[in-house]
Amino acid sequence: MPDDPRTLAVLTSGGDAPGMNAAVRAVAKVGAARGLRVVGVEDGYDGLIDGRFRPLTFDDGNGQFRAAAEVDRLSGLGGTTLGSARSPRFRTAEGRSTAAKRIEGMLGLVVIGGDGSLTGARALGSEHGVKVMGIPASIDNDIGCTSSALGVDTALNTIVDACDKIADTASSHRRAFVVEVMGRRSGYLAMAAAIAVGADGVLLPEHGRSEEAVLDAVEQLVRAGLGKAGDKRRVLVLKAEGVAIPCTKLVRIVEERMRALDATIEVRATVLGHLVRGGAPSYFDRMLGNRLGLAAVEALLAGASGEMVAWLATVQGGSRTNDPSIRRFPLDQVLDETAALLDGTSPVTQWRLRLLESVEGVLPL
Ligand code: ADP
Repeated sequence: MPDDPRTLAVLTSGGDAPGMNAAVRAVAKVGAARGLRVVGVEDGYDGLIDGRFRPLTFDDGNGQFRAAAEVDRLSGLGGTTLGSARSPRFRTAEGRSTAAKRIEGMLGLVVIGGDGSLTGARALGSEHGVKVMGIPASIDNDIGCTSSALGVDTALNTIVDACDKIADTASSHRRAFVVEVMGRRSGYLAMAAAIAVGADGVLLPEHGRSEEAVLDAVEQLVRAGLGKAGDKRRVLVLKAEGVAIPCTKLVRIVEERMRALDATIEVRATVLGHLVRGGAPSYFDRMLGNRLGLAAVEALLAGASGEMVAWLATVQGGSRTNDPSIRRFPLDQVLDETAALLDGTSPVTQWRLRLLESVEGVLPL
């Protein structure tokens, strides 16, 4: 299959995210409509190294390509049906060289994934001249240059639904709950969900609080809400995974401190974990996946490479595509901005923290 400029490859890599399948669907459909054979690569960069391709289009006998029937179902499916993998082999120069040979001469490769996957895509382009186009997918919303990555909206809907349910039982028993959500390096999910569920507080890695400071803050919140002067039915605190103190330890210590005051106060923990990654994508993630997929194919056909297609809620910078909300950014810029998002120096991170501070009183932590 290499050496065919009418063939386009697509892979999903790194942490899976709802909406990845929708993007694959659009790549296959749009590719076929533009006269391309589209192949899916199984299990991300690992499958690329091994040459594990899955046809997503077929030749209709008249020299035209059509999307395979399985593609029709893709928009509504969670996870990634192509499979994803962490690939240590691809981190080696030898692994990337083998991977590049598998797609040599093809029109290009669409990489749907997060920070690491886009870094890998950039390396394929710069080291071996592979034409790559990235599509951001990460439930943590920690990718630069895009307002939203695939999976964020679905993950937030799942968290909101889970917190509403936890709040029902918490209110029935006048309990405090700490709910931990994914986000090792970025507290975006906890922050955004906290506002939507009317949480009493939110704990983010970006705050950089010590363990003792976290314990004191939660204790004060539980005391104010459920202590003698408190009139709350429940106290709900959202904690991002990246806040170093484990949830079980946090609630154990806070409950011990509260018990010294009032033996009836109960503090519980729920870790949502991988629940937040799964499930059928929301309307927004399906729409986003399809539009980004379309833009990625058009960009490669127009001769662009080494870029990522991004969704911009407010349009600024970047070069135009046919879709006014979608812009292309060089992978170098995307990865620099991603690093700044994660180390807190990005204006976007600082703006998010300022936003939180501005709602102090609504969210006391
Ligand atoms: P995500 O894309 O969700 O951030 P990872 O960080 O696990 O997930 O990256 C996915 C894959 O991308 C890795 O398993 C690896 O094969 C590849 N990758 C990550 N970082 C690099 C890098 N610096 N150079 C080359 N490949 C990388």
